[in-house]
Amino acid sequence: RLIAANPEGSNEEAVDRAIRPKTLADYLGQRVVREQMEIFLSAAKGRGEPLDHTLIFGPPGLGKTTLASIIAHEMGVSLKTTSGPVLEKAGDIAALMTNLEPGDVLFIDEIHRLSPYVEEVLYPAMEDYQLDIMIGEGPAARSIKLDLPPFTLVGATTRAGLLTSPLRDRFGIVQRLEFYEVDDLTRIVLRSGTILSISLDEQGAREIARRARGTPRIANRLLRRVRDYAEVKADGAITADVAARALDMLNVDQLGLDHLDRRLLLMLIEKFDGGPVGIDSLAAALSEERGTLEDVLEPYLIQQGYIIRTPRGRMVTRNAYAHFGLRPPEVPGT
Ligand code: ADP
Repeated sequence: RLIAANPEGSNEEAVDRAIRPKTLADYLGQRVVREQMEIFLSAAKGRGEPLDHTLIFGPPGLGKTTLASIIAHEMGVSLKTTSGPVLEKAGDIAALMTNLEPGDVLFIDEIHRLSPYVEEVLYPAMEDYQLDIMIGEGPAARSIKLDLPPFTLVGATTRAGLLTSPLRDRFGIVQRLEFYEVDDLTRIVLRSGTILSISLDEQGAREIARRARGTPRIANRLLRRVRDYAEVKADGAITADVAARALDMLNVDQLGLDHLDRRLLLMLIEKFDGGPVGIDSLAAALSEERGTLEDVLEPYLIQQGYIIRTPRGRMVTRNAYAHFGLRPPEVPGT
């Protein structure tokens, strides 16, 4: 996974588990998604059926995995988790699906990275709860059909455009997660603070939320780093002032842009005259993978109006120049 990899070991994982919301009521923000899911979940429960297959898309850290586990929790079933790149052969997915109990949720992260063979197996499984696989090779090969229990497939992907259309069409529910508003992130930070017994006031939480790139995972990570700072450099309490000083030290700027965001913008401005420049050239210049640019960096910078995508490549906006206190070049005729 792109930024999910946790560099800080298992303690952080335990903390992560503790603060991950378990019920829809604790899933803060994403009002539209929450309202819709509330209805779909209670209707499915009322009919005694599994929830329709659900596709969730949105940049990393916005709550796709969390929503999948909430679906299982709310339906009172178990969650089995896997990811696209892990499933190499048709047999891999067959093994997983034959182990499902009726109603279970099968969560496939990075579902856009499934191999075509695995996708083929998935289609009849999603449509008719039928497993259709070949066993053996050569003349002895034969196809067998197995009935599967009814289940819910929840797929997550960073970008909807990456999915093949036959796969996308088989999801009855499609949810797009948006970057979070500062108010919602503030509530998320306050909630995490309470669970972790961190001394934190509302203004301190807001300062962290403002600089968290609209992303709960980043907000929670910044909260823990600000706590470290507060314990060592202050009296342990996180106020707006302590949070601001800690975040400055962590190189997270006033608008929540981190080191890599700023490198990308400055590269565009200084090396490419503001663009347009193709994504591959930009990735090469930054020594970053194209996928990281597209999945992690760009969505937020575009949403915030710092860069735009044009047919000829990426361009910075006037906002980006202003952010660095630079003057945009004069464009004749504008
Ligand atoms: P994704 O799967 O989209 O990369 P996750 O579901 O792993 O993101 O979410 C990252 C972290 O952010 C989770 O550990 C969870 O604690 C927090 N989080 C995500 N969405 C919410 C939400 N709506 N309310 C509160 N916390 C959230």
